Amino acid sequence: MTDVIVLGAGMAGVSIALQLRKRGWSVALVDRTEPGLETSYGNAGIIQSEAVEPYAMPRDIATLLSIALGTSNAVHYRPLTLPQHLNSLLSYWWNSAPSRYQRISAAYATIIAQATSEHAPLIAEARMEHLVRREGFRVLHRTQAAMDRGTATAERLKAEYGVAFKALSPAEFAAAEPSLIGTGAGAIHWLAPWTVSDPGALTAAYGKLFQQRGGQLVHGDAASLEQIGSGAWRVTTDDGHLEAEHIVVALGPWSPQILARFGYHFPMVRKRGYHRHYRVQGTLNLPIMDDANSYVIAPMAKGLRITTGAELTGNEALPMPVQLRRAEEAAATILKLGAPVENRPWAGVRPCMPDMLPVVGAAPKHNGLWLHFGHGHQGFTLGPATARMLAELMMGEKPYVEATPFRPARYA
Ligand SMILES: Cc1cc2nc3c(=O)[nH]c(=O)nc-3n(C[C@H](O)[C@H](O)[C@H](O)COP(=O)(O)OP(=O)(O)OC[C@H]3O[C@@H](n4cnc5c(N)ncnc54)[C@H](O)[C@@H]3O)c2cc1C
Repeated sequence: MTDVIVLGAGMAGVSIALQLRKRGWSVALVDRTEPGLETSYGNAGIIQSEAVEPYAMPRDIATLLSIALGTSNAVHYRPLTLPQHLNSLLSYWWNSAPSRYQRISAAYATIIAQATSEHAPLIAEARMEHLVRREGFRVLHRTQAAMDRGTATAERLKAEYGVAFKALSPAEFAAAEPSLIGTGAGAIHWLAPWTVSDPGALTAAYGKLFQQRGGQLVHGDAASLEQIGSGAWRVTTDDGHLEAEHIVVALGPWSPQILARFGYHFPMVRKRGYHRHYRVQGTLNLPIMDDANSYVIAPMAKGLRITTGAELTGNEALPMPVQLRRAEEAAATILKLGAPVENRPWAGVRPCMPDMLPVVGAAPKHNGLWLHFGHGHQGFTLGPATARMLAELMMGEKPYVEATPFRPARYA
């Protein structure tokens, strides 16, 4: 019997597996595939230390109208699937009201502040420095009015949270990125985030580090999870039954579905995103977020990766990459975008909780059941930081960051 089985080997799962191994626990990490092949593979690769305020649901009439009419590229929805999302969206709306959002952001900022310092030792020990740039990323604003609004927001975040930025004129932006053929009204350069040229490879390298430290990586289906007579937990794997006193559910977007079998109903706003790589003449030094068109274009190992905003659709719905097509058109106005690398775009789901905070801590109704999911737009950023919090809770220690806002019982 091992001490703990971690279900899911995305950034959330490999991070908690490493934290517990470091504390001397015997740990088995179970995934149906290899580490870092799902959401933690397909993201924009930004360790977003500037994202001190989580992504709220828009509440102003103009933005809601543009979403409803399908003219926004930030959100796309399929009307027939909207009823599936209704409860989560209502709760998301409620939590996005200014006073609640302010409280949520205050909690979020405390954990975002730990993001780079918790990644740093893992990047070094996994010998993955070559994948990481510590030079931030830039947000393109296409009009002067948008640039002014972006600068005002950046100044507020700097004053309230100490987030560092530099406002770049079109000429400064062009000098920083010589491949650009359009620089709009300039850019906000967030200076502190780190960017990763292959997020899946970094996650996989953390998984390898876990094995080098004596952790056990096993193929298996989390759906086989059961609690046995003694109160211990059992999972069926390719190597037979595994049993442990503790279980951690770190299954990203698949977490609520497994937990429903144990009487937990976690609402999740499932925001699907797409990506595709492109060949390009020249390249970019750092990722660019195109504010008006809601995509990120990032230099990656396979080419320039465009990642899209949120699509609300059915769990099993066939891909409909409308936002990617619009992003390609917009990107072609700032770069000489070449042919796509893949035949088909990748698609994955951001596991967003309606209150925008990840779920970290003990499940309220079962001994030995621990939860680590729901990191939404910033799970690649936050995996190691929330993993340390969870490991400290599992050890019975006082967590290094106040854990109450993240407790699973808030959804009980
Ligand atoms: C387009 C896009 C762009 C993004 N950009 C960024 C960004 O720039 N920065 C950032 O911080 N975040 C970003 N995110 C969010 C981030 O990618 C996620 O929050 C994060 O990857 C979630 O990690 P996870 O470990 O919780 O889930 P996952 O990485 O999805 O891991 C879940 C694991 O569970 C396994 N699993 C599922 N079901 C089973 C089962 N039944 N049995 C066994 N194993 C199972 C899967 O195989 C998988 O390995 C982006 C997301 C998207 C979609």
